[in-house]
Amino acid sequence: MLTINKALELIPFLKEQGLRITPQRIQILQNILDAGHPTVEDLSKMMPGISIGTLYNNVKLFVKLGILNELPYGNGISRYEFYQSNHYHVICQSCGDIVDFAFPNLKEVEQIAANLTKFQISSHIMEVYGLCKTCQNDSSR
Ligand SMILES: [Zn+2]
Ligand SMILES: [Zn+2]
Repeated sequence: MLTINKALELIPFLKEQGLRITPQRIQILQNILDAGHPTVEDLSKMMPGISIGTLYNNVKLFVKLGILNELPYGNGISRYEFYQSNHYHVICQSCGDIVDFAFPNLKEVEQIAANLTKFQISSHIMEVYGLCKTCQNDSSR
């Protein structure tokens, strides 16, 4: 799994993608790293000085460049994370917390889908749902 702790480590990669590096962009990326799987709302709370429109534009640009991955699940509000393969998400049904776990990409599913349906397969999404540790404790009270 990709392990990047400092957004500054991404600068060579960002330059490769043709992105203009600004302190604001580095700040946004650092906050996404720190928060895990934030929504744009979450980011806005972390950076009240940056307008939500600017945050949206940057996040959309990062997604387009393949730097961020958009996670469309949950309550219809997208969450964002750094693009990395070979991992899936477990999502808490109670509080919405998302945690990564490493697992090899299920290419076999795509292969079987392609064989059986003759579709040209581009991707798949697998989500695992349950109750996180905090919510388990809450409900047993
Ligand atoms: Zn929870
Ligand atoms: Zn993730």
